[in-house]
Amino acid sequence: TFRALRMLRDDAGVRPEIQTLPLSALPPGDTLVRVAYSSLNYKDGLAVAGRPGVLKTYPMTPGIDLAGEVLSCETGAYAPGDRVVLTGWGVGERSDGGYAELARVRADWLVPLPSGAAPEWAMGVGTAGFTAMLAVMALEDHGVTPAGGEVLVTGAAGGVGSAAVALLAAAGFTVVASTGRPQEETYLRALGAARLIGREELPALTRPLEREQWAGVVDTVGGDTLRGALAGTRAHGAVAACGLAGGSALGGTVFPFILRGVTLAGIDSVTCPVPRRRAAWARLARDLDAEKLRDVVQVRPLGDLPALAEQILAGQVRGRTVIDVTAR
Ligand code: NAP
Repeated sequence: TFRALRMLRDDAGVRPEIQTLPLSALPPGDTLVRVAYSSLNYKDGLAVAGRPGVLKTYPMTPGIDLAGEVLSCETGAYAPGDRVVLTGWGVGERSDGGYAELARVRADWLVPLPSGAAPEWAMGVGTAGFTAMLAVMALEDHGVTPAGGEVLVTGAAGGVGSAAVALLAAAGFTVVASTGRPQEETYLRALGAARLIGREELPALTRPLEREQWAGVVDTVGGDTLRGALAGTRAHGAVAACGLAGGSALGGTVFPFILRGVTLAGIDSVTCPVPRRRAAWARLARDLDAEKLRDVVQVRPLGDLPALAEQILAGQVRGRTVIDVTAR
């Protein structure tokens, strides 16, 4: 048997419950993983809080990230004892995820942990850090370099934002952090932010084109923040759109695109192809080591998830939350 946080649906609605389940409760798959750690992302917050949209069927084990050790693999791609990380692919959405001591998944969804990396580190990174890495790689692919000027990160004190600040600073960029939490200034500066701007500053920019400020932008907020960021992006700069913490609308005009050659790059961590995944994890191991993550991460047990879910939806969680699935 194994413990799992299950989301159940009945006449009274949707609710979480920690259950002890038999192996037969696991979904089909070719690889059995002993999960050591999972993590909390915004999407997991939606799932555990019972909001519609993330979980496709019930009962379901949420947790879009997991890291641990392979117990058995029918494909031969992994040997027992291999340390692996899994993010995305619909795990914790349409099939059971990481909030459990065991997971049965597909071998081709897994990435081997970079040598020397621990499962706890991998979950400190998680989908949020992985997404931030994909966003930074997208900016670089579109020619954004440290010599081009300041880069902006929105929702900077959140999971994706914190990682983006650290990764951009590690790559030599001058990072401006947009946040609604000025009390996190010390935290954001320690991650590598050169200066902070208030959360309200970007939505307040309403002209089709604003002063050219940003060589590149990692946006986790969407809505008017993304519109304001696009209007202030320098000629031939790029904006990586990752999230919707502030709204899913995409307003504004096409002028940043057709008069300044600005690129809007979409980031989807869930279906990211395997070669890009491996490249991103290798670079994360290099640029976001356990020491850098120390102040970003808190480790909590499964039982804390219902309260943590409400906190992340309210924008109150700082950095990353790692879930120790074996802790009581
Ligand atoms: P998170 O830790 O909650 O971070 C979101 C941050 O956005 C908050 O910390 C806050 O930052 C800011 N924020 C929250 N509410 C806001 C509002 N109403 N207006 C403006 N800013 C607001 O969540 P996360 O896990 O980093 O995820 C961030 C976003 O990226 C989510 O929308 C998530 O769904 C998305 N995401 C997308 C992918 C992908 O593959 N594309 C992957 C992971 C996450 P400050 O306190 O600093 O202002």
